[in-house]
Amino acid sequence: MIPYGKQNISQADIDAVVEVLQSDFLTQGPKVPLFEKSLMDYCQVEHALAVNSATSALHIACLALGLGKGDVLWTSPITFVASANCGLYCGAQVDFVDIDTATYNLCPVKLEAKLVNAKKDGTLPKVVIPVHLAGQCCDMQRIHALSVEYGFFIIEDASHAIGAKYLGQPVGGCQYSDITVFSFHPVKIITTAEGGVATTNSAELASKMDLYRSHGITRNPELMKQAAASGWYYEQICLGFNYRMTEMQAALGVSQMTRLDEFVAKRQVLAKRYHELLASLPLTVPYQSPDSYSALHLYPIQIDFTALGKTHEGVFSALRDKGIGVNLHYIPVHRQPYYAELGFTSGDFPLSEAYYDEAISIPIYFDMTFEQQDEVVEALRLVLQ
Ligand SMILES: *Cc1c(COP(=O)(O)O)cnc(C)c1O
Repeated sequence: MIPYGKQNISQADIDAVVEVLQSDFLTQGPKVPLFEKSLMDYCQVEHALAVNSATSALHIACLALGLGKGDVLWTSPITFVASANCGLYCGAQVDFVDIDTATYNLCPVKLEAKLVNAKKDGTLPKVVIPVHLAGQCCDMQRIHALSVEYGFFIIEDASHAIGAKYLGQPVGGCQYSDITVFSFHPVKIITTAEGGVATTNSAELASKMDLYRSHGITRNPELMKQAAASGWYYEQICLGFNYRMTEMQAALGVSQMTRLDEFVAKRQVLAKRYHELLASLPLTVPYQSPDSYSALHLYPIQIDFTALGKTHEGVFSALRDKGIGVNLHYIPVHRQPYYAELGFTSGDFPLSEAYYDEAISIPIYFDMTFEQQDEVVEALRLVLQ
């Protein structure tokens, strides 16, 4: 089976992890700060907080921004459930903004229309989470301008987009947001097995996220309620979690970071090749915005199954039968049973649902060969004819 995504692990990656296993620190040692430093340098950002997943990063980002009961969080329906769940973890209400039909990202026009209504109703969101689907950036300039006008915070869910650029600048620099979150799950661009990071230019948000990722405990005298009377003294000053990244994960991350640009460049080559090879087939290739240099985590194509006299399930399983590990990103979050119970229903976000009805993600990953890619294209040609 040609998978839809796969990590690349080099001998240097393995050596880096083994070196940590033979060292004094398996957790809370020097590798996590080193990984954070490499992310700060790469993203040109002031602070980076490494944690055990992007889901944890989204949670502490929401907490640091003060999201809680009575507040509202908006995100895109076309995302992994974690982008919405983080709002529910904080006791906030979650709602969605429909997508742009070209990029499949949260649509700034729909966002503005929804903000106008929410302002009238007194239900403006406290946090909006644009998701850079497949590694292509949302229209951050417009979303940022709306945040200034309507007073909401922005967390970029850039789980797909490490190594991507927006208007020539690295994603993660937070020029147009309060916090950016990356994921290092093995299917993503670089991996630490499990892992994530939150970046920000705000010292205050960084300090809060630092507390939330480690039990709400501090040894910083400036944050303590009482003066440190003794060497062992520490204080828990808020309710935090154990979301820490291990030293093995961070060492793997440091080593993977040295190949990040190479990883994305190869995905760009594969995508350009797909664009050409698929041009004559009855499907739509993903639009690439000139504002964005996409990390190309995914390559989601659209197929009008009805027009071809086929079904979504039929084409999907025929491709799997031919050894092509196709996938689907994503089932709209509001259509999940858990969200249906919260009151969402079919038809709430019609463009997201129309996208879902025609979506299939075909394989794209660093180690994919041109021969494997030709195999995917040939399988698609046979299945769609
Ligand atoms: C993978 C992913 C997450 C969650 O990442 P983890 O590191 O697995 O917690 C969140 N949002 C999006 C868009 C993702 O693709």
